[in-house]
Amino acid sequence: MRALIAGNWKMNGTSASARALAEAVAGKLKGAVGPLPEVALCPPGPLVPIVGWVIRDGAVALGAQDCHPKEKGAHTGDTSAWLLKDVGCKYVIVGHSERRADHGETDALVQSKAAAAQSAGLIPIVCVGETEAERDRGETAAIIKRQVEGSLPPGATAENTVIAYEPVWAIGTGRTPTVPEIAEVHRQIRALFEQRHGGGSLRILYGGSVKGSNAAQVLAAEGVNGALVGGASLDAVDFWKIIEGCPVG
Ligand code: PEP
Repeated sequence: MRALIAGNWKMNGTSASARALAEAVAGKLKGAVGPLPEVALCPPGPLVPIVGWVIRDGAVALGAQDCHPKEKGAHTGDTSAWLLKDVGCKYVIVGHSERRADHGETDALVQSKAAAAQSAGLIPIVCVGETEAERDRGETAAIIKRQVEGSLPPGATAENTVIAYEPVWAIGTGRTPTVPEIAEVHRQIRALFEQRHGGGSLRILYGGSVKGSNAAQVLAAEGVNGALVGGASLDAVDFWKIIEGCPVG
């Protein structure tokens, strides 16, 4: 399977900086030789069409950071998966820990968003991960089980779904789990997925303080098929180092 490096820009950027960053990433990809992972950019909502225009030749995939479970209607401020598909998205992140924390998103809501994304023809990047307190209490496996089982729709397949393991304590902190710790959780996620949804080439990304300087090590962990990158995706040079450091598949 081809690995995926997805940049989550979160609530950062302007129309000008988004254009420049997308142009820089697309330009590097165009000039690259040899096999590389798939690359996706997930800008904030209003910047999605702007980035989509810059990367319209299709070498870089377009993604969004959230979607509503419904197709349309009276949901002020929300965006449907169908609209994201209409403006050119391939991916949408759902269940990011910042949304779970800031907006109280439950596994059930995340599941309905992932199902909407799949119905609309998008691939949801479903995020799961334990907090530091949960890891310290030895609850990582239980939290991952609850989130994976609760957040994935019954119709999830290896082809229409990507899962991102993002330990909450590693996001934006500069800290990462050890390579064996990452491999262990990825093994658990894959086993849980296969029990309910069957086998296939499911991509499980790691996310949390991935940078150019640690990408090669972290992304070589067994069962890791790419990365969801926050802070470092805002810097084209560092983001490119991650892309180059990622085993392709
Ligand atoms: C994220 O929020 O998805 C993330 C991985 O952030 P960072 O890379 O900044 O830790």
